[in-house]
Amino acid sequence: MEPLQPVPPVLISACLLGRNCRFDGHTKGDPALVSRLEASGVQLIPYCPEESGGLPTPRSPAWIEAQDAEAVWAGRDRVLDEAGEDVTSAFVRGAEGALALCKRLGIRTAYLKERSPSCGVCQTHAHGELIDGPGVTTVLLQKHGIETLPG
Ligand code: SF4
Repeated sequence: MEPLQPVPPVLISACLLGRNCRFDGHTKGDPALVSRLEASGVQLIPYCPEESGGLPTPRSPAWIEAQDAEAVWAGRDRVLDEAGEDVTSAFVRGAEGALALCKRLGIRTAYLKERSPSCGVCQTHAHGELIDGPGVTTVLLQKHGIETLPG
């Protein structure tokens, strides 16, 4: 009989796990999702790209300036906060930290907070409104073959 393969851990947006890391200092805990994942026995690895990228909590809300997260990675767009401060480098650092963590721990799946400019999966914030498409961290994880699921 073949030995059982260990189940790889799963990355999860820290705010979904109940951490107060959102821009407004609050959380977006999803107890039903967390219970379901915990019941499956998988190890959850919380990560907040914006805090890990060096931004404080609370912080000014931010969004992609003109197009989408793909354009940010192509160097054709920026992430600005409400005051017009360019926070692109913090968003990029946080995304790269997420990818490095996934590679180090063998993570192949990430549950990410929908509609965030970092973690959005189906929708994100650009030019002050919701648009279809992933956030800055999500795009990078997807480009490296990590499954991204909305939380
Ligand atoms: S960057 Fe992601 S993990 Fe951090 S607060 Fe925003 S949605 Fe949650």
